[in-house]
Amino acid sequence: MADCIFCMLANGEIPTATLYEDGEFRVIMDANPATKGHCLILPKAHYANIYEMPEDLTGRAFVLAKRMAGRLTEALGCDGFNLVQNNGEEAGQTVFHFHIHLIPRYKGGERIVANWTQTPLPEEWKDEVLAKLS
Ligand code: AMP
Ligand code: ZN
Repeated sequence: MADCIFCMLANGEIPTATLYEDGEFRVIMDANPATKGHCLILPKAHYANIYEMPEDLTGRAFVLAKRMAGRLTEALGCDGFNLVQNNGEEAGQTVFHFHIHLIPRYKGGERIVANWTQTPLPEEWKDEVLAKLS
């Protein structure tokens, strides 16, 4: 898609630090990393978010995420790992080309990736969600 920065990065039109590439995906280093080794999986085809992504491509993206998590953990010796995938402005998405964040975590690391206050599941939420999905 014209004017999409991730289309240009994924397809090599703008050079970038690349950790992996195949016919469908490129894995690049995030320009503003949360931690050392923070990378992004980008499909070469443009889909704005997970809702637009074909299921088979989504599956392959997450298989690649699993593989990259293993490789990064082995190479960097990190102590934990976050996969983050934002969809929509409300969810924190800022670049509207599907991507998966690969975020190595380190013992004693100060930077928090995702945090929310844990509160018990309200009965009415449970009932409503179960009813709407049944
Ligand atoms: P999100 O908020 O999930 O849409 O994440 C967008 C991510 O893209 C952020 O972590 C940015 O740091 C990263 N980003 C934006 N522009 C570039 C770029 N030119 N190269 C690499 N990463 C980028
Ligand atoms: Zn794009």
